[in-house]
Amino acid sequence: MEYPIEGACQCGNVHYQLLAKPLMVVACHCKECQKLSTSAFSITAIVKAEDVVFEGEMKEWRRPAESGNISGAMFCPTCGNRLYHFNPADMSTLKLKPSNLSNTDLIQPTVHAWVSEKQDWYTIPEGVKTFDKQP
Ligand SMILES: [Zn+2]
Ligand SMILES: [Zn+2]
Repeated sequence: MEYPIEGACQCGNVHYQLLAKPLMVVACHCKECQKLSTSAFSITAIVKAEDVVFEGEMKEWRRPAESGNISGAMFCPTCGNRLYHFNPADMSTLKLKPSNLSNTDLIQPTVHAWVSEKQDWYTIPEGVKTFDKQP
C-alpha cells in the first residue's frame, strides 16, 4: 500500500494524512463502540502519533474508560464524525477511526476486542485474535 493516505470527515472540514502503516487494527464490540459507530462494532487503527497529520478544527470529549484511563475523543464539530481517540496520559499513539480514509483496504481488523458484548448474529472471522474484554 502507498503512503500517505488521505482521510477526511464526512463534511470535509477536517482533513488528515496517514503517513505510515498502522501498528495494529482492532475491531471493538463493546457497547460504547456500538453506540459510537451506530453499528455492531467500531474499527480502530493504532498509529504512532507522528504518523498522522490533521488539518481543521476539531472538538474534544472525554470519558473514563473501564481500564481506569481517560478516553479522549476528537471529532468534527460540524458533521460530528469521529477522527480519533487518545489516552491523555500516553500521547505516543493515537486510536485513529480509519473508515474515513480514501483507501480503506487497511482497515481489516486482526484483533477483535470486547467479544463478550458482541452482537449474537455477528460471527468472528477465522484467524484473528479475540479478547473477552480489553486486550
Ligand atoms: Zn466534518
Ligand atoms: Zn469499544
